[in-house]
Amino acid sequence: MNLHQSIPEEQAGAVEIRVRGRVQGVGFRPTVWRIARELDLMGEVLNDADGVLVRLGGSAGVIARFLERMKAERPPLGRIDRIETRPFDGDLPREFRIAESVGGTAHTQVTPDAAICKDCVAEVLDTFARRYRYLFTNCTHCGPRFSIVTGIPYDRAQTTMAVFPMCPACEAEYGDPADRRFHAEPIACHVCGPKARLIRFDGRAVSFDQHSMLDDVDAVCSLLQKGDIVAIKGLGGYQLACDATHEEAVCRLRALKQRDAKPFALMARDLDIIGRYCPLDDEARRVLQSPEAPIVILPVGGPEHLPEAIAPGLKTLGFMLPTTPLHLLILRRMTRPVVMTSGNLSDEPQVITEEDAKARLSAIAPYALVHDRAIANRIDDSVIRVMGGRARLIRRARGYAPAPIKLPPGFEASPPVLALGGELKATFCLVKDGEAILSQHQGDLEDAATYDDYRKNLALYAALFDHAPKALVADKHPEYLSTKLARTRAEDEDLALVEVQHHHAHVASCLAENNCPLDVPPVLGIVLDGLGLGDDGTIWGGEFLLADYHGYERLGTFKPVAMPGGASAVREPWRNLYAHLMAEIGWAQFARNFAALPLHADLAARPRATLDAMIKNGVNAPLASSCGRLCDAVSAALGLAEDVQAYEGQAAAALEAIVDEETMLREDELLAYPLEISNLGGSGLPYIDPLAMWNAILGDLILNTPLPVMAARFHKGLAKAIVAMARKLARRDSADDPRFTHVALSGGCFQNRILFEQVVRRLEAEEFTVLTHAQVPANDGGLALGQAAIGAARLIDERAKSREGNVPCASGFQAAS
Ligand SMILES: [Zn+2]
Ligand SMILES: [Zn+2]
Repeated sequence: MNLHQSIPEEQAGAVEIRVRGRVQGVGFRPTVWRIARELDLMGEVLNDADGVLVRLGGSAGVIARFLERMKAERPPLGRIDRIETRPFDGDLPREFRIAESVGGTAHTQVTPDAAICKDCVAEVLDTFARRYRYLFTNCTHCGPRFSIVTGIPYDRAQTTMAVFPMCPACEAEYGDPADRRFHAEPIACHVCGPKARLIRFDGRAVSFDQHSMLDDVDAVCSLLQKGDIVAIKGLGGYQLACDATHEEAVCRLRALKQRDAKPFALMARDLDIIGRYCPLDDEARRVLQSPEAPIVILPVGGPEHLPEAIAPGLKTLGFMLPTTPLHLLILRRMTRPVVMTSGNLSDEPQVITEEDAKARLSAIAPYALVHDRAIANRIDDSVIRVMGGRARLIRRARGYAPAPIKLPPGFEASPPVLALGGELKATFCLVKDGEAILSQHQGDLEDAATYDDYRKNLALYAALFDHAPKALVADKHPEYLSTKLARTRAEDEDLALVEVQHHHAHVASCLAENNCPLDVPPVLGIVLDGLGLGDDGTIWGGEFLLADYHGYERLGTFKPVAMPGGASAVREPWRNLYAHLMAEIGWAQFARNFAALPLHADLAARPRATLDAMIKNGVNAPLASSCGRLCDAVSAALGLAEDVQAYEGQAAAALEAIVDEETMLREDELLAYPLEISNLGGSGLPYIDPLAMWNAILGDLILNTPLPVMAARFHKGLAKAIVAMARKLARRDSADDPRFTHVALSGGCFQNRILFEQVVRRLEAEEFTVLTHAQVPANDGGLALGQAAIGAARLIDERAKSREGNVPCASGFQAAS
């Protein structure tokens, strides 16, 4: 930052201060106005296309104090990226004022929704305040933004608040720079704003005891307390709520929602209630109370317990605090946690209209708390997990999207690019003016309603960010709906199309969020996930890529093993177990040595002949070098995996959940299962070889070794092998000039806290610099950012080439084709 550009001490003068960052629509101008007035400075403040502009007249000392205070007292949702100061010689108003915004093409930022702020909480609980118990209270420091926006510029007329004209009292607040509601577009009150009411889906009138319940919202609390399920129209979609301590209600909700085993999100009134079930460290407390207010995945371990049906098979719970006044007031009298899960059936998108709620949710919840502020844009709750002491996004949605992510140095030169993401956990990403705008999580595109929503969001973002791409970027997988859409659009709109290998995009995503510049030297990307299409037509999912933004070289992998049944093998972990055992040991030897195991009986009863034929003939049994499938197979061997997984990653999560932490922490390296590094025949590509591990696992099963110890031995062995591979590939031992010094970790398997923390610790012990995800998910939700960075790099390279003739790209890799 460039704060004090030679303004001579104590000499009167005038300066112009440019402030960049998240400074519009968050109450920045009133803050500047207040500080300038308090310091008795003359001048003005205004919004323009580049952010906020402040012109000040006064002594250099006072101006310096102003700058200090502006940084220290910036509004809660504000973020200052850069301040530039230069002398100003125009006229200034004597009395400091907020001037008209300038710049017709100003890209007024649409900011994410923010949880209710402390001041608004105090107001809705204050019996003497004008907004006592008003459910839609908000100010410039909090409240809905993205979820209610319908167009740009961001003002009330372009939100779903347009149909509620402000009353004189609200209008006065809106126009008063000294008020924290100055230019707060969605403000409202009991007189002029939206209203909520409790309904019964069957149309019958709701009756409740007016003496013991304050209003409709308070009645929701009473319904929850007596075990009812209530649909609630939340900020970005309907939610379904029930008392989380009421086992029968939780099981009923699970059955009716057709959600077999996926964990339910929880909401609690305050941190003390959460603390009864989960210990909270400082980072978890900070994130829970942040304006983003995500669901935070916490380890269980309090004095009290919730029913197993909340998060079957897991040792974690996902908690959030009330995010809106509506949630705050529902939970006001509730001293127990409530389930607050998305209002939908199994994997469909969340319901956002009352009509849809009636059609889809009435069979689940007899009651609904509805209101008349429309949800313009569906947005799920975000999910965070604290790993390695740092909050890391697993699902990036409410509170985070669509806040831009600054791209690293070198990307300023990129023309507008649109990356369409993957297939599961779909997001897309716009590149514009050196920034990446990553969409909110939208779910799996295979679901038709989700795919419709994805296309609607593409149009919305194009309008909100005035974005017309010069190139489209997609995954190489021809069957992804996102890839198909990109191919069609590229042809129809005559746009360049860049197709990016799945795991390369993962590495680039990690590089981009770690601010690695466009010309960064190649790093070793370790990408562990379920599946992605490889360059050789096989399926990859455990890859060691020497990579930068321009290209990559595959240096190592996991042993490729067949997936008998193809897509069925993704859902049914026992298929992977069978394929692994056949690839390593063969049935004859397995039957000879391990016939005593229940596992033997289990596999013997499967349609082995069919599976064998598939594997032998390579029909519907593609080879996959997938770390995710290896974890599935181990989980199945330990008897932890359901026959059919209820959600992606369930078997691996169950394996992580039972790990014995004591075994994990013991220094004894002999405890690690042996995973060796071998070389693939033809290509000579080194791979992680699980043969010895399988013999050790089967031996442990014979010895009745406790499963938590076995799970720990597996995690330890896997981490150890991954790091041994990195060391080997770096050629640290043979040369003073290693091939790479930085390692980037990506892929959904790194949502496993134990694996992640083990790998990071061991890599750091080997003196590698480790780059990890935090702002964007390691899973496919972060894929679009990496695609966007690679696509942008390609366009920048091509421009440079066409200017200077043929210059090979810096890293000398094959281009990412
Ligand atoms: Zn507020
Ligand atoms: Zn009003």
